[in-house]
Amino acid sequence: MMDSKVTPDEYFGSNVFNARVMANCLPHKVYEAVMSTRTLGTPLPKEAADVVANAMKDWAISKGCTHYTHWFQPMTGVTAEKHDAFLTPRGSGVILEFSGKELIKGEPDASSFPSGGLRATFEARGYTAWDPTSDAFIKDRTLCIPTGFCAYTGEVLDKKTPLLRSMEAVSRASVRMLRLFGNQTVQRVMTNVGPEQEYFLIDKASYDAREDLILTGRTLFGAMPPKGEEMDDHYFGNLTQRVSDFMRELDEELWKLGIYAKTEHNEVAPAQHELAPVYTTSNIAADHNQLTMELMKKTALKHGLVCLLHEKPFAGISGSGKHNNWSLSTDDGQNLLDPGDTPQENMIFLLTLCAILKGVKEYAPLLRIASASAGNDCRLGGNEAPPTVISVFIGDDLQRVLDAIEQGKTLIGSGKERFNLGVDAMPQFRKDATDRNRTSPMAFTGNKFEFRMLGSADSISCFNFVMNTIFASEVTAFCDELEQAADFKTALNDLLVRTIRENRDIIFNGNGYGDAWFAECKRRGLPNYPSTVEALMQYDRPEFVQIFEAQKVLTGAEITSRKEILLENYSKTVCIEAKTMLDMARKKILPVVISYTKELLDAVSRKHEMFGDLRMNARVEEALAEKISDLTAALYDAIEDLREQISAAANAGDAIETAQAYRRLVVPAMERMRTTADALEVLVPQDQWPFPCYSEILYNI
Ligand code: ADP
Ligand code: MG
Repeated sequence: MMDSKVTPDEYFGSNVFNARVMANCLPHKVYEAVMSTRTLGTPLPKEAADVVANAMKDWAISKGCTHYTHWFQPMTGVTAEKHDAFLTPRGSGVILEFSGKELIKGEPDASSFPSGGLRATFEARGYTAWDPTSDAFIKDRTLCIPTGFCAYTGEVLDKKTPLLRSMEAVSRASVRMLRLFGNQTVQRVMTNVGPEQEYFLIDKASYDAREDLILTGRTLFGAMPPKGEEMDDHYFGNLTQRVSDFMRELDEELWKLGIYAKTEHNEVAPAQHELAPVYTTSNIAADHNQLTMELMKKTALKHGLVCLLHEKPFAGISGSGKHNNWSLSTDDGQNLLDPGDTPQENMIFLLTLCAILKGVKEYAPLLRIASASAGNDCRLGGNEAPPTVISVFIGDDLQRVLDAIEQGKTLIGSGKERFNLGVDAMPQFRKDATDRNRTSPMAFTGNKFEFRMLGSADSISCFNFVMNTIFASEVTAFCDELEQAADFKTALNDLLVRTIRENRDIIFNGNGYGDAWFAECKRRGLPNYPSTVEALMQYDRPEFVQIFEAQKVLTGAEITSRKEILLENYSKTVCIEAKTMLDMARKKILPVVISYTKELLDAVSRKHEMFGDLRMNARVEEALAEKISDLTAALYDAIEDLREQISAAANAGDAIETAQAYRRLVVPAMERMRTTADALEVLVPQDQWPFPCYSEILYNI
């Protein structure tokens, strides 16, 4: 850990090649070129790239680096890197070199990354392309250059590239919208994200003793402990020394990487915690979130802990999510989602809000897809996380504003230059009134939307590129309509009224966990995709392909490939979990329960030997032995059943049929096996059970 005399402001960003470093080491013109690439998205000239590369290399070497890597985010969901030394042979020795070409483009072998059929096997090469808007940084004495990753034919194989493209789309559409309101100077609109990251910390020894945690990141067996989270005593509770030391070191590591880690606290479940950074531009937030997850895992190990990022490490205990706070800001400093004190007069805000409501309603399945994973299936809809039906919470104050507009109050055109919506008596807008409902998938929280469906292990890129694309698409359509209008103000009012009327069904301000809501969803006809597989099936619907193509974010082929990759990923995950269960049940649980039964039966015979026919004396041992024998037989049957279901799923057919079979056949067989094994756990002495139980794992750090 850092010397306590060094204050965070002194080392914040010390491992980052950021604007401050560049201002110091780049010629002014090159520096300006990089900054205009960042703020305005203009391409960086080749000569400038050479200068930047050289400066980056000198800086990295001065900090002890020997290697560089193009750091990218393939569809595996984790980051990838291929390290190259700066060395170039020269004469009998070497020189340290790094060119603009090497900075801008890398050529890793793409063949072992998922491509969903995009890349022909004879053309295994892919290339990585520098994202100059995200700072290069140092990790493990290696200069890491954030990059996108494509097939050689140009198709996208990663999570960053569509996000960058969607940010362009948002900017294009939003600048156009702002021009309609007379803003001639704004040049760029950025999307911002603050992701709140939940995680569990457990002792390394408990982790090492459980094959399921090691292989799948979650417990596949485990009876409920006597104490769960019913006392509400962990939330915001005191941190133990070990956890506090971990958090302190994690903060320091993140700060060195220029990541604005800000809030750290205990979460609802025992052993669960949360970290929230200060929000920043989406693609940087996505990079930072990947680094945060990586550093959480690494730092935990240094403290003899393991960080679990799985969405549901412990059944019956709240799982972990990631709240994605999303907003839009202009390069002249406005937040388009800030309603101000009088939202009813804030037309830019209202139009922005309407674009979001309409987009979410029309493209809800895409937002559901963005939060779909095998891990998140264990959590969504379970009254601890939002339901699987998408709706939007806006709060009562904003609801009143929208209701007033919809009720057809038209504007008084000339003279006053303001909309008269007949709501003059409305009290001033209370921002805090928007942050009460924690059950909504997507909630307006004062000056941003908080999307709460993401799983803790997810990359945030998918949600953000989907949300950005939807938004850009709706705003583009609004602009098409308004730019044609003879009378802008009337047209704007008509558009708002119509949009609110047609999309009010997506708004729900009540309790999203209640049964009443599920009935109401059906009545409203809102789509419900209870699991990942059902959600992913929707990905390549023609209207979805159309908006991704129109906004230049993904092509039809890229969407098909993503659908395939995600379905395969689902099948593989369930398959590994199922096989792990089989292994644990056969090799660990069965032998233990068999030998404990023998122990009980031995006790029964010994008692019979001693006490003759007085059978009552062995009543407990016999009853236990009988119960355990029955459950053991049931476990054995469950093993055979699960084995058969896995093999049926593996031979089900194409990617869709396979994923469907895993969902329909294997997942329920896993649940049946678990119920039986957990019933056995309760009956077997703790010191004989083959792995640590929940209370040992959750209450010992
Ligand atoms: P809560 O737990 O009440 O949701 P937190 O303070 O834990 O609140 O997290 C709020 C997150 O929202 C932080 O990451 C914060 O930086 C982010 N945030 C705040 N304002 C904005 C904004 N305008 N755009 C995007 N994210 C924001
Ligand atoms: Mg939150």
